[in-house]
Amino acid sequence: MKVLVGEFVTESNSNVPNMCELKDYDISFGDECIRKMKIRDVFDKNNIKLIPSIYANAGASGVIEKASFQYIENYLLKKIKNHIHEIDGIFLMLHGASEVQGIGSGDHHILKEIRRLVGEYMPVAVVCDPHGNLEKEYVEAIQILRSYRESPHIDADKTMHIVAQMLCDLLKNRRSMHAIYRKLPLILGGEQSVSEDEPVHSINTYLNTLEKDEKIMSASWHVGYLRHDCEVAGCGIVIVPSDDKHQKYANQKADELAAYVWSKRYDFHYTGLTMSLEESLKYAYAFKEKPFFITDSGDNVTSGATGWNTYLLENVLKTNTVNKKILFASICDPDTYNQLSKVEDSIIDIELGVGYDELSKPIRGKVKIVGNGELFGFMMHDPDSIFGQCVTANFVGTNIDVIIANTNWALCELQQFKKIGIDVKDYDIVVVKQGYIFPELKAIGAGNVMALTDGATPQDTASLKFKRIMRPMFPIDKI
Ligand SMILES: [Zn+2]
Repeated sequence: MKVLVGEFVTESNSNVPNMCELKDYDISFGDECIRKMKIRDVFDKNNIKLIPSIYANAGASGVIEKASFQYIENYLLKKIKNHIHEIDGIFLMLHGASEVQGIGSGDHHILKEIRRLVGEYMPVAVVCDPHGNLEKEYVEAIQILRSYRESPHIDADKTMHIVAQMLCDLLKNRRSMHAIYRKLPLILGGEQSVSEDEPVHSINTYLNTLEKDEKIMSASWHVGYLRHDCEVAGCGIVIVPSDDKHQKYANQKADELAAYVWSKRYDFHYTGLTMSLEESLKYAYAFKEKPFFITDSGDNVTSGATGWNTYLLENVLKTNTVNKKILFASICDPDTYNQLSKVEDSIIDIELGVGYDELSKPIRGKVKIVGNGELFGFMMHDPDSIFGQCVTANFVGTNIDVIIANTNWALCELQQFKKIGIDVKDYDIVVVKQGYIFPELKAIGAGNVMALTDGATPQDTASLKFKRIMRPMFPIDKI
């Protein structure tokens, strides 16, 4: 038997000025596509041959330029057309949070086009990120759909394996089945739905119990994605019955699961400490142990922000009178990176900050170059792929080092810091462009705080301006 595989990942943040273009993707074809999806072993074990299509991963970025999306989609569809006579099923990783100029959800568009080619019965299995948006028509056109359980997504690879095995089992024992969806009138930010915390921990326990039922193949809940305004935004749940003959039962379980998540709506909250910028700095300066992490949550590059903001650095340059050793990881400024990557002298005058707005205002200073390197992937992004370059610079006369990068790629894991020659334990305070802090940094840190800063990823969900989402929607409307 043969299965065609492909991956498309884009979280489209419409608050950033740049469009997401082809150059922003980690793109692979052929064996590299299969390697990066990390599912070959499962299909090998089941004696199923893989046909690669395209692996296109932009992570969190902007709204996708139409022609760039069409290139990716057309390549995937062309592969399906070329192999339609021999494939038994399709396995996809579709993140779910894309928005394409003039099209809407790219993920939903891809599936519609696939169904146009292969009809409604060919088994299609989809792995998705819980921070994606679903809709009834999309989910019900899929045989198997399951999302990651954990946020941060430490179970990403495991989920790919689970779903790959579910598809193998379906191909060996063909039957009629499709996923069931319930949308909830609830919109949440990723920072309010960390899975080691409640209520997500209890919701995941509920899902695990549901999956022990032999009539249920899988159960998922989706946080949704709120960084672009669209009618499919919001939370939802998905149940996949193990056979269409259990549809009635599965629908009942879907209603129960939806009611359970809905009943928890007042329990979603920020995990850990959250403070204003001023309070965060005061707290960090007074903190005795190291390293202490501050997340610049308004400029969260893991949710599509630009990573341009210098506002926090400006504040630290003014207020670090206690002379703490501080690292900024990182600030994206391609021009300053280019300037620093070319110079021979190690001390140079710079203007750091792209100057797009007040938050990314240039900061003038003399810096000494103390390191350079490349930004590698983390978690579900290939750790051997390079996503950008950086220079580490020290503001002369201060204890403040800044990693200045030519992309907004996030630094979330210790292996990434190590590859650019940095040990975070050398610093009292490390400022990262994240919302919730990633697990390895949390573990190595003596403490951390989420600073509620301004930017493209503000945390106050109720204050966001939506025009296209379903109404009423909690917590924007008081349901
Ligand atoms: Zn996610």
